[in-house]
Amino acid sequence: MDTCPFTSADIDAVLFDMDGTLIDTDNTDVSRWARRIARLYRSPERAHKAARRLVMAIESPTNSIFAALDWVGLDALVVRAMIALQGSKHSLHDIPTINGTPEIIEKLVGRYKLGVVSTRSITEQETLLAHLRLRQHFDVLVGRDTTWRIKPHPQPIHYAAHALGVEPGRCLMVGDTTVDILAGRRAGAWTCGVLCGYGERIELERAGADVIIRETMEIGNLLS
Ligand SMILES: [Mg+2]
Repeated sequence: MDTCPFTSADIDAVLFDMDGTLIDTDNTDVSRWARRIARLYRSPERAHKAARRLVMAIESPTNSIFAALDWVGLDALVVRAMIALQGSKHSLHDIPTINGTPEIIEKLVGRYKLGVVSTRSITEQETLLAHLRLRQHFDVLVGRDTTWRIKPHPQPIHYAAHALGVEPGRCLMVGDTTVDILAGRRAGAWTCGVLCGYGERIELERAGADVIIRETMEIGNLLS
């Protein structure tokens, strides 16, 4: 694990991204693609590796597009239109949590205020968290329908901090992609990148993550 520039004494609230951070959408996507392209490969392992590269390739340009849209202030509008055209990719009840996430959330409850800052709608977040029996632990949910601007704009982080009654500078934003890190940094929050989702270490480092951990559950070591 990297050296961490903050301690538990610096943090009052922990804000989590959802896909690739709390829930394993990444692997759900990879498995779906691996099944589709399986007959092109000699072994399931090769198909799985190819599917992973494919998902990464699909995801990275999308994130770059979001970053570009952010400059012209069209992010939320375009994302809403894209989601309406694409429809929901998964049944919300099929997506598992990232390894160890429920346990770590339960450990943080009471010690920190907890929130979700995701590009999913509030309705989707409510459904997912209720299904995973985690809804009661979060004091605020911020979705694409909460604020006009979305990550990597700092507005959703500011909204969450205000709703929780904490300074943005005493929040820790945890997420798997550069938009999470950029939004957190622009809001003046601490940032933690996780490698259990779509993002790669190099891009999270470039975005300026204060610390990068392998899995979300390791947040417990940072805040112990
Ligand atoms: Mg994510």
